[in-house]
Amino acid sequence: MKVYTLMLGPMSNCTYIVENQGQAILIDPSWDMPAIYKLLEDKSLKPVAVFFTHAHQDHMTEADKFLKKYDLKGFIEEKEEAFCTLPHELIETYKAPKNFEFAGLKIEVILTPGHTRGSVCIKVDNILFTGDTLFVNSVGRTDLPGANSESLIQSLKMLAALPEDTIIYTGHSYGLNEGFKSTIKQELATNPYLKMAKENPKILEDML
Ligand SMILES: [Zn+2]
Repeated sequence: MKVYTLMLGPMSNCTYIVENQGQAILIDPSWDMPAIYKLLEDKSLKPVAVFFTHAHQDHMTEADKFLKKYDLKGFIEEKEEAFCTLPHELIETYKAPKNFEFAGLKIEVILTPGHTRGSVCIKVDNILFTGDTLFVNSVGRTDLPGANSESLIQSLKMLAALPEDTIIYTGHSYGLNEGFKSTIKQELATNPYLKMAKENPKILEDML
């Protein structure tokens, strides 16, 4: 298994391509479809599944073109459907938590509401794609429609309890250097939100 990261668009959105056995699972393909097509073609990968971490426009803009080109549907958690701007016939809803299997990989989708009602984190092996729930040194906004800070605190508590060697890949590159990649261990040390979720979630109520 290998993970390719494409940082695309004006808000440093991350599109992830998870490769296994010549097949690819895409997470949040958005903004620059030609760049995504090029990577798939360069590596001779066949896309077999597309997941969206949540339905915010910046995580799926232009993805309709991708889904049509490869004749795929995008998986989106059912609570996100009402906010989803993709044509209905291009999406497939499901209720998280749910397990999938694609490209010979077990994919565990965890419901982590807070940033949006149906935000999910997607776990493949010891890698967790966190969308806008958890960033390097930060967390997702809770001031947009559908957001809920109490839910986010519960979701962060859940993430803080994951094995510390879990690698995280976030929905935007907001950190320094490789600002999209970290580990639960690193974030527990340097991300005040995740640290507080583990040690003193009460304090987080004032922070979020
Ligand atoms: Zn978002």
